[in-house]
Amino acid sequence: MQTQDFFQTKPTRLLHLKGARVVDPATKLDKVTDILIKDGKIAEVGFADDNPEAEKIELTGKMITPGWFDMHVHFREPGKEVAETVASGCLAALNGGFTGVAVMPNTSPPLDNAGIVGWVQAQAEPFPVELQVIAAVSKGRQGKELVEMAELCDSGVRAFSDDGSPVGSSALLRHALEYADMLKAVICEHAEDISLAEGGVMHEGAVSTKLGLPGIPSVAEVIGVVRALLLAEYTGAHIHICHISTAAAIEWVRWAKAKGIRVTAEVTPHHLLLTCDECTSFQTSTKMNPPLREEADRQACLEALTDGTIDVIATDHAPHPVETKEDEFIQAPFGIVGLETMLGLCLTHLCPKHLSLEALLERVVFAPRQVLGLPQPSITAGEEANLTIIDPDIDWTVNPEDFLSKSRNTPFAGWNLKGRAVGTISKGQCLMKGDRA
Ligand SMILES: [Zn+2]
Repeated sequence: MQTQDFFQTKPTRLLHLKGARVVDPATKLDKVTDILIKDGKIAEVGFADDNPEAEKIELTGKMITPGWFDMHVHFREPGKEVAETVASGCLAALNGGFTGVAVMPNTSPPLDNAGIVGWVQAQAEPFPVELQVIAAVSKGRQGKELVEMAELCDSGVRAFSDDGSPVGSSALLRHALEYADMLKAVICEHAEDISLAEGGVMHEGAVSTKLGLPGIPSVAEVIGVVRALLLAEYTGAHIHICHISTAAAIEWVRWAKAKGIRVTAEVTPHHLLLTCDECTSFQTSTKMNPPLREEADRQACLEALTDGTIDVIATDHAPHPVETKEDEFIQAPFGIVGLETMLGLCLTHLCPKHLSLEALLERVVFAPRQVLGLPQPSITAGEEANLTIIDPDIDWTVNPEDFLSKSRNTPFAGWNLKGRAVGTISKGQCLMKGDRA
């Protein structure tokens, strides 16, 4: 699979982006203007001349932002290539408008050593996506013994997680935090008390009782979050809470931030937009972990996103092939794909109602890279061109058949959205969707 099969590729030797609204909160830029790109770098912003040698892309009515970054995706390779590969995941990211992703290590075998991390990095090499590997915290994700964190950091790792599960014990999480702090890395914690969550398939409450399905109580997440926060406080290290979903856990993050504990948190589009009422359909595309919660939790997520308690929006893109998602609700695996719907969902349902455009970009461009200690893109002359090109006015309907991901498991099929990525520029490559858009 190659980018040319799905996108029109334009040379960036000399590229003239004409007439788009260019928005970069970091440099307080928001105006309709032209950008000239030379050899993959931004040569000029506010470029007016017509250089006959430049390849031109007419972008009137479109918007250009710094490249979006999804810091929580599962690309399933190695081990479950039928669901996703690094290549198909990169294509899905590009189709969704992302120029960067961080992949979680719960593959088979897990990404727990420098050799396998290097292999995954190499699979992403042909694609104009910045792929950051989040390595496992524990060897084999067994929750017993720390991975070689220093060696992994030497091979470009900036973050560690046993995502899919919480770190196996408080002692191990403490040590992981201590080492991560020395290495200027971050621990991304899937916060959950397994003994409370085990066996559950949806949020525990009135709906699970009505449906007769075993529940995952909110308190399982709260206990996981509190453990993580207290250990971050004790060690002085930075903890990042993955996919927060409950009002009560958010209250603890708010408390921790006020206290000066080094914590950041992320939320998924589905926890911002859906509740456990969706599960009454018994559609397995409404089954994920953490599960869809109650309306009060959803409102708390939105509020926390608005007030900055939640720093990042990330998809938790979790592909599964149709066969497994066609199982009964109880047997079906957790997780949904998200890369190709997030941008449209954010522009349609979050911005400007809950977030200004500037605040949205903070949560999808800058904060994820900041959590991971990565350099920030900037729409400034001299910088590498790292851009997402958006049609903010296009109306479209989510059709999973159009996904470049190998999987189709989404609860958003049939949703009418306004706004979609039409192109990306990064790593010296410009990809435009052309007729596909
Ligand atoms: Zn998780």
